[in-house]
Amino acid sequence: ATSTAARRSTELEKLIPLRPADFRVLTGDRPTGPLHLGHYFGTLHNRVRLQHLGVEVLLIIADYQVLTDRDVAERLGEHVENLVLDYLAAGIDPQRATIFTHSAVAALNQLLLPFLSLVSVPELGRNPTVKDEINHSRQSAVSGLMFTYPAHQAADILFCKANLVPVGQDQLPHLELTRTIARRFNERYGRLLPEPDALLSPAPLLLGTDGAKMSKSRGNAITLSASADETARLIRGAKTDSQRHISYDPQSRPEVSSLVLLAALCTGRDPHEVAQGIGSGGAAALKRTVTEAVNEHLAPMRARRASFARDRGYLRRILRDGNERANAIAETTLAEVRSAMGTRY
Ligand code: ATP
Ligand code: MG
Repeated sequence: ATSTAARRSTELEKLIPLRPADFRVLTGDRPTGPLHLGHYFGTLHNRVRLQHLGVEVLLIIADYQVLTDRDVAERLGEHVENLVLDYLAAGIDPQRATIFTHSAVAALNQLLLPFLSLVSVPELGRNPTVKDEINHSRQSAVSGLMFTYPAHQAADILFCKANLVPVGQDQLPHLELTRTIARRFNERYGRLLPEPDALLSPAPLLLGTDGAKMSKSRGNAITLSASADETARLIRGAKTDSQRHISYDPQSRPEVSSLVLLAALCTGRDPHEVAQGIGSGGAAALKRTVTEAVNEHLAPMRARRASFARDRGYLRRILRDGNERANAIAETTLAEVRSAMGTRY
């Protein structure tokens, strides 16, 4: 599935600049904490790039989905505002992007009901990402929300008829389900919904400082909001291996290769070239190279963040406008869905 998605992503990369107006992007994040380099190179960088190409971008802050793996969503307001700040710092243009929260758009959430009727319980149970998340969950029993959130995500994407979803690798099973839901809806009720494509980045699964997927909830992340010193400290503590010679070989040396990749992504160089440059300098030289590359890459983002952070009212206004626009879109789509289903009396 990953290689098909990667091939399709390569095709799309050629197509999008030719016809940017044919695409609409929907993607987003859970407000569970600050965004990190995995988010940036997995999806955020692509969102900014697509926006520069002239593609319409909608960003969902999936607040309801925080409850998939915990009982109570803590410090939500703070996390939501900080996500908006992360987006702006990364280069999202608030004049052009629609940034909204899940829970503020009632009509979007109503789409979940017909969509759930289009998938079977075994289909939901087979989802490998959900299985993995259940294993890492803080809850003792699997909630109905955890089990069904990929169908909820189909509503997030289809409410605005998005056809392009820049995501990391973990999202591919969810996107497959969205396509299935759209296809079945169209077959049963007449053609209405697009079957969206995933857009993978060159880093669809960036590893954290412990060698596992970089993740907000696993304590292995380098956040975009970290200071230069904090970033240096985190990279110094990253796991490596005992071989002195540095090479890029993600299969056999995942930890070292992930650091090499990070330096390559930040400098726009080829990872093999980066590894060759360090040669037998060992882990210390590798970490110095990575720290310098990351800090240099993040410097303009840190500056933008500092200037936007002064005006929390502005962040809230962006959300208020985004929620208003998302509601208008969702109400239109819900009316169409209900007409197609014969539930508009
Ligand atoms: P949590 O641990 O709270 O689930 P997360 O770090 O997994 O947080 P999400 O909000 O679930 O982040 O994911 C947001 C987006 O970022 C998704 O498109 C996901 O594929 C992408 N993403 C997250 N982590 C990585 C990573 N390590 N490498 C590449 N993409 C990533
Ligand atoms: Mg996640």
